[in-house]
Amino acid sequence: MRVSRLLLVTLRDVPAEAEITSHQLLLRAGFIRRVGSGIYAYLPLMWRVLQKITTVVREEMNRAGAQETLLPQLHPAELWQKSGRWQGYTAGEGIMFHLEDRQGRELGLGPTHEEVITSLAGELLRSYRQLPVNLYQIQTKFRDEIRPRFGLMRGREFIMKDAYSFHASEADLRDTYGDMDQAYRRIFERCGLDAVPVDADSGAIGGAASQEFMVTADAGEDLILISDDGQYAANQEKAVSIPSAASPLPYGPEESIPTPGLGSIESLCDAKGWDPSQVVKVLLFIAKLDDDTLQPLLVSLRGDQELNPTKVVNAVSQILNKGVLDCRPITPDDNNRQQIDLIPFGSIGPDLSDDVLQGAKTWEPTFLRLGDETASELGNFICGANRPDLHRFNTSWAAIGQKPVSLDLRNARAGDVCTHNPESRLTEKRGIEVGHIFQLGRKYSEAMESRFTNENGKTEPFWMGCYGIGVSRLAQAAVEQHHDDSGICWPTAIAPFEAIVVVANVQDETQAQLGEALYTQLQAAGVDVLIDDRKERAGVKFKDADLIGIPWRIVVGRDASEGTVELVCRSSREVQELPHTEAVTYLIKALHP
Ligand code: ATP
Ligand code: MG
Repeated sequence: MRVSRLLLVTLRDVPAEAEITSHQLLLRAGFIRRVGSGIYAYLPLMWRVLQKITTVVREEMNRAGAQETLLPQLHPAELWQKSGRWQGYTAGEGIMFHLEDRQGRELGLGPTHEEVITSLAGELLRSYRQLPVNLYQIQTKFRDEIRPRFGLMRGREFIMKDAYSFHASEADLRDTYGDMDQAYRRIFERCGLDAVPVDADSGAIGGAASQEFMVTADAGEDLILISDDGQYAANQEKAVSIPSAASPLPYGPEESIPTPGLGSIESLCDAKGWDPSQVVKVLLFIAKLDDDTLQPLLVSLRGDQELNPTKVVNAVSQILNKGVLDCRPITPDDNNRQQIDLIPFGSIGPDLSDDVLQGAKTWEPTFLRLGDETASELGNFICGANRPDLHRFNTSWAAIGQKPVSLDLRNARAGDVCTHNPESRLTEKRGIEVGHIFQLGRKYSEAMESRFTNENGKTEPFWMGCYGIGVSRLAQAAVEQHHDDSGICWPTAIAPFEAIVVVANVQDETQAQLGEALYTQLQAAGVDVLIDDRKERAGVKFKDADLIGIPWRIVVGRDASEGTVELVCRSSREVQELPHTEAVTYLIKALHP
């Protein structure tokens, strides 16, 4: 390809819309263009990158025995109603774009394909003899994200590889899950990415294993915790740890202590000289359940700990055996809206009476009471007295008369001791989730009545796994991990071109001829090569080559008359002056060893 013919529009200035480096670089180097919020055009250079990633993904999926397919993007609502997800995905903060056709039938634009594939499997796979089957596709997904941002990182239209496997037994599912784990490690390695596998939240399904692959980068939206012995890594949503010990409160009689204006743990402890670990703080939430009930929650936690919203949602869902569509804090505004004005915000105790809910218009009349183990394990502690501006000092669960269900509801944090090894501590890193593998179990096959006949002639629901890779997000994550002050440094396997021949001065006959000759030789050797034959100044061409991040550059300049060229490695910036024949041989060896 000739740069003179390439659609290459680079920008000198950093586009205001882009907050993170990879997004800025992709815009500046002319890889992508914004069309709308979370909607991007992949320009020719970007499309080459995406196709290279796709090729790696395809090769590794095929090698692992998966079969490629292509499923529709328009999903009839009935499929999602059958799985029970239509409501959650379309109402409120649901992320599915949905529409009506001319007959008034409802459809959704596929954000993921469990429904479509599970229903097909039920029709096509009748016997255990046909199992296991692993089907994958690479296509555009649609999600009406609440906060589309960071370019391709969180788009509303993006490319995903998704695979779904069907099994006659859980053991067989585990085998394929293990194969996918291996395939994913190879995919990310081949793409030049440092991706860490971490334990991930499996949502309300419980039990089933799930693992995310995180590209570590400061711009990542996820927080991951990694043990310093290298044995454990988990998304914070899921991570467990041993909390630091509480600072003991000397035993003594219970006292009521006036605390006017001290509504936060911080102000309370500052004013009274208490340690936050001696306080039980109480947080109230309202959970919207999938049967449309609004369930008030009362959660107790030790004052120095942070609540983990994912763990709370999972606990509610498991205890009540219902899906949680939304969970938000109860605020003083709710007092008016629900016509309850009894909640003493700032001095709530774990034993806040259900009476405060009696006037509520749409809420359930009793709290679901949950406690983190850091709170329930405290001997004597400080907590709100359920009366404005009053706290109880030296109280206990026995004095309070009720102890909440004790669970793990807090965030593990950097510095915490690991559960698997008390000698090891957790450290924090930010990560970009580029892949997720998941043992789904039978949730979808049961809901959708998707069954096969087993060895004993009985029908049963399939065991299922699902495996996603964010192809377009991965491309940008690669830039986040590989760039410098001058631009992108694409890993060779996914670079839009492997090499660029830059003719410093195309008016110079000798340079032009040698440049063309090298271009032809490299093409003949199967190198993905670009020639910059523009009538621009050499400096402009070098800048562009650096910005778009082609791994190797051959500069044909003044020394062309002696047959000498410069070979430049983009990432190390190492420069070699070589006779042109040697440069070509060296390059071909480096690219295709
Ligand atoms: P996230 O937690 O980032 O919202 P998710 O867990 O909803 O992602 P999955 O349903 O597991 O995502 O989708 C599989 C993969 O698709 C993710 O691992 C991620 O790499 C990619 N992905 C998900 N949402 C987006 C998006 N809005 N834009 C680009 N890629 C995405
Ligand atoms: Mg995920």
